[in-house]
Amino acid sequence: MNKSRIIEKLKLPNVFALLLTVFVSCALLIVINYYTIKILSINRAYINGESHYSKGQKEAVRHLTAYLYNQEETLWKLFQKELKIPQGDGIARVALINNGNETVIKKGLRAGGNNEKDLDGIIWLFKHFHSVSFFKKAVDEWEKGDLLINQLSVIGNQAHQKIQSSNLDSETRDKILAQISLLSDRLSIIQRNYSNTLSDGTRKIENYLIFTNVFFILIILSSVAVYYSVMIKKLLLSKKEIEIQNDNLIIANQELDKFVYSASHDLRSPITSLKGLITIAQDEENPVQIKNYLHMMYQSLTKQDQFINDIIDYSRNKRKQLLIEPVSLNKLIDDAVNQHQHIKNTNAITFKKDIAIDEITSDSLRLKIILNNLISNAIKYSDQKKTEKKICIKTYEKDGFYYIAIEDNGIGIREEFKTKIFEMFFVTNNNIGSGLGLYIAKEAVENLDGGISVSTTINLGSTFTVTLPKKYEI
Ligand code: ADP
Repeated sequence: MNKSRIIEKLKLPNVFALLLTVFVSCALLIVINYYTIKILSINRAYINGESHYSKGQKEAVRHLTAYLYNQEETLWKLFQKELKIPQGDGIARVALINNGNETVIKKGLRAGGNNEKDLDGIIWLFKHFHSVSFFKKAVDEWEKGDLLINQLSVIGNQAHQKIQSSNLDSETRDKILAQISLLSDRLSIIQRNYSNTLSDGTRKIENYLIFTNVFFILIILSSVAVYYSVMIKKLLLSKKEIEIQNDNLIIANQELDKFVYSASHDLRSPITSLKGLITIAQDEENPVQIKNYLHMMYQSLTKQDQFINDIIDYSRNKRKQLLIEPVSLNKLIDDAVNQHQHIKNTNAITFKKDIAIDEITSDSLRLKIILNNLISNAIKYSDQKKTEKKICIKTYEKDGFYYIAIEDNGIGIREEFKTKIFEMFFVTNNNIGSGLGLYIAKEAVENLDGGISVSTTINLGSTFTVTLPKKYEI
């Protein structure tokens, strides 16, 4: 597998998922902060309301006490006026609990001294949070306070009636004052409980707010950090990919230079030799010699034909996409052998097949190129001195790979040429080929994610082995 394919396979976290996480976290953070600040601000309005409530109640008690001593009507009026503040809140509370009319609720809250701007918030919080424990507890305290305010109002009315009918003796007055004082004390406790409950709730909300803020900020920070590391990794990978592509381009360029140079040379040389042979043949009278020249011309053209075929194979191998499909190795081998039957000396060679693996999934064009070149070489480089010339073609499976081996008892290859033979235009002294065959075969094998190797002994023969993967990821 080549390097760029390995890079393609490296999996990185999805950057869109990371960006989505950041976006959702920011949105949640904004919503949570908005509502928390809203709740805290309304809580403050409730605590403010309580301060008006308790101030009104205390003023009312003060005026009532003074009225009991001075019996001045203005003090009685002032008592009633101040008492209207907690009573207004009480009306609003009852209407809120009974889901009553908003105008009634607002009227009560206004009478309770609440700021006009806070009214909607007070109603909203009550509707949505009346079952939240700390808020429910505060409302319970509020209800207890309202009951005592009612009692205070009743006591005030009784005292007023007695004063009106000049029926208030000092003993009764002291009794009433004691009742008022008791009520006052109980109300103070209730008001304190109410404020404390709301303050505790506010503190809890503040803690939740800090916690959620820290939580979401950590999520955002870690997502951003991962995002940046992914981007840097991607950048490094694409840099590596560009470097690999650059290297490949340099190699391709060098090969192209070499190719153009050698191709022009190899294409021209048979023409030059043909021209020379024709010139000599024109002056030749001897028919045997002319036949000899014709044979040489034929050889020259055969060589050029082979060279052009090699160039076509080279270009098809480079250009065509892989087409992975079921192929029969047995059939491809038969076709390749048959294609070479017309070549001189082929008849003198015994072909043997040992097909353990036939049907495989691969690219038939590349397999044809590989088999043609290897079989053609095995024929070309057979040893004319040997009486029994053999070529054996084997297919088999080992260690999770398919193998094709082409074994001949030909002339063999000298140790120092074993690696060079796969280079472009490399030929040994035999000089009967273009030097492209093995180069193209190797390229085709690499296209199939496989490998090619040779084991050879000079004068004994060579075995070329092709390794192919069993599966292709498409
Ligand atoms: P060519 O067209 O010259 O055959 P190749 O690339 O196919 O080009 O082969 C390169 C060289 O490798 C050949 O010139 C030959 O010397 C050597 N060679 C290839 N196959 C064999 C073989 N089966 N036996 C001996 N030598 C071989």
